[in-house]
Amino acid sequence: MKLIVRNLKLSLDDDIDVLKRFVSKKIKVNEKDFKNFRIVKESIDARKRPFINLVYSVTLEIEGKIKIKESADVGILEQEPEKVLVPGNIKLKNRPVVIGTGPAGLFAGLVLAQNGYRPLILERGECVEKRTQAVDRYWATGELDPETNVQFGEGGAGTFSDGKLTTRINDRRCSTVLEEFYKSGAHEEILYKAKPHIGSDVLKKVVSNMRNRIIEYGGEVRFNSKVTSIIVKNASLAGIVVNDSDEIPCEVAVLAIGHSARDTFKMLLDKGVGFVQKPFSIGVRIEHPQEMIDRAQYGEAAGHPKLGAADYQLFQKIGDRTVYSFCMCPGGIVVASASEPGMIVTNGMSEFARDRENANSALVVSVEPGDFGSDHPLAGIDFQRKWERLAFDAGGSCNWAPIQRLGDFIEGRKSTSLGIVKPSYTGGTNLTDIHSCLPAFVTDSMKKAIPYFDSKIKGFGMKDAVITGVETRTSSPVRIPRGDTLEAIGIKGLYPAGEGAGYAGGIVSAAVDGIRIAERIISTYSY
Ligand code: FAD
Repeated sequence: MKLIVRNLKLSLDDDIDVLKRFVSKKIKVNEKDFKNFRIVKESIDARKRPFINLVYSVTLEIEGKIKIKESADVGILEQEPEKVLVPGNIKLKNRPVVIGTGPAGLFAGLVLAQNGYRPLILERGECVEKRTQAVDRYWATGELDPETNVQFGEGGAGTFSDGKLTTRINDRRCSTVLEEFYKSGAHEEILYKAKPHIGSDVLKKVVSNMRNRIIEYGGEVRFNSKVTSIIVKNASLAGIVVNDSDEIPCEVAVLAIGHSARDTFKMLLDKGVGFVQKPFSIGVRIEHPQEMIDRAQYGEAAGHPKLGAADYQLFQKIGDRTVYSFCMCPGGIVVASASEPGMIVTNGMSEFARDRENANSALVVSVEPGDFGSDHPLAGIDFQRKWERLAFDAGGSCNWAPIQRLGDFIEGRKSTSLGIVKPSYTGGTNLTDIHSCLPAFVTDSMKKAIPYFDSKIKGFGMKDAVITGVETRTSSPVRIPRGDTLEAIGIKGLYPAGEGAGYAGGIVSAAVDGIRIAERIISTYSY
C-alpha cells in the first residue's frame, strides 16, 4: 500500500530524521515497516514569526495487511496507469523539425526523440558552452552578438536565469518536466521543494545534458541555424529555409522561438501566419540588500541555513493598472539581456547558491494593446523597442544601463550618487533619471505602489534601493492563435509552442507546452 502523509511540521532545529518518527506516530505504524520513504514536498511556513516551520509531505509504502485511517493529512495513493502514447495514422515523409531550444523546444524535442521520431532541432544561436562565452563578452565589453545572447542560443531565454521552476499552471506534465530536469543533472531538491530553482550555473549543464540525451535517442541538434523562411503549399507546411540558403522539406514543425525573435515574427507574418496583439508588462529591476529581505520575511531566523535567501511576491492594483514584482531573484544579479543593438534590456539571474549581496526583482506595470498606438499585430514589439532605445540613450548611448536611487526616482530628480546598495548589473551603468525611458503611466503607477509594497516588505521603499531600466521582456507581446489541433490557424503542420506563441510564461509552462505539442504530433502522425 502506498501512502501520502502531509502537514508534517519540523522546527528549523529539528533533524530531518525525526520525520519518520512523526509519520510513525501519525499513522500508527512502526518505522521499521516503512519502505521507499520519500519527501515529496518541503515548504517554509513563516506566517507565525518568530516561529518558523518547515512543512513536509512524504510518500511511503507499507507491506502486509495494515489498517490505515485516512484523513486530510493521510491518504492512500492509487497506482496511476502509465500513459502510453499511441502514434497516429498519418505517415510522415520527413522527420519533424523543432525550431528553438528553449524549454518548449527542448522538451518537444526530447519527447519526440524518446518516442522514436528522430527530430531535427534547429537553433539560431550557439551551443550553451560557446553561448556562455558570447554572453560574458557582451557583459564585459557591450559587444552584442544578435544571434547568440541572453535571449538566443541553446537553452533559450531562461538559461541565464534563476531557473525558478514555480508555475501557476496545474498540469500532470509539470512533474515530468521536473523529473527530466533532475535526470539531466539538476539537484534532487527540485523534485520536492515548494519553490524549486535550478540556478544558472547548474542549468547550463542540464541544458547540454538534455541535448546529449536527445541525440542518444536519435535526434539531431544544429546550432547557428536560423529559420529564415517557411514554405507553405496548399495551406500546409512543406518545408523551411535555414540561414537564407538551406531548404529542408518537412510537413511538421514545432515553432518554439520564444518572445524575442522579432525578425522571425515578421517573417512569419509576411508568410501568412496569424498574429494577435497581447498584453504584457514593463518597468525596471529593483535591487535591495538580500539581508534586509531576509529580515523582513524571516525576522530573527534570517540567515538560518535551512531557510536560504528569502524571496517575495508583491502585487497592487493602481487604478486600471497592476503593479507587481516579477521573476524575483534572491541573492542574484541584474543581467544585461538585449538581443538587438542600440537597446538596453534588463532581467535577473541567480546561481544555485543564491549567495550574492543583493535581492533583485522586476517591478513592472501591466500594459495593454491600447497602449501600443497601432492595430498592427506586431505593434507591441515597436512599443518595447521604443523604451529599450530610450534606455540605451539614457545609459549614455554606449551600451550602459540607466540606473537611479529609488529615493531620487520617487522625488523626480536625477541621481548623482549611490547609497548603500551597489548595482549588480553585468555591464556599465549610468546614474540618471529613469523617467525618460518609461511611459508616465508606468512610472506613476510604480511610485503609487511602492508605499503598499513597503508595508508588506519592511524596507522595500528604502531610498538607497537601486532601479535599473528597462524590463520589457516579461512575456510575449504577441500570440500566434492555434486551432483545436494546436496548429497555427490556416497552416497545417505548423505548431506554435511556448512563450513566443503566447501559450506559456516561464520555464515550466513553456516546457509543458512543448510536451503537449509533441504528444499531439505523436498521436497524429507516425514516423
Ligand atoms: P525561449 O526560451 O525564448 O527559446 C526560444 C529559442 O528559440 C531560443 O533559444 C532562440 O534562440 C530560438 N530561436 C528564435 N528564433 C529562431 C529561429 N528563427 N530559428 C531558430 N531558432 C530560433 N522563467 C522562469 O520560469 N523562471 C526564471 O527564473 C526565469 N528567469 C529568467 C531570466 C532571464 C534573464 C530571462 C531572459 C528569462 C527568464 N525566465 C524565467 C523566462 C523563461 O526563460 C521563458 O519563459 C522561457 O525560456 C520560454 O521558453 P520558450 O522555449 O518558449 O522560449
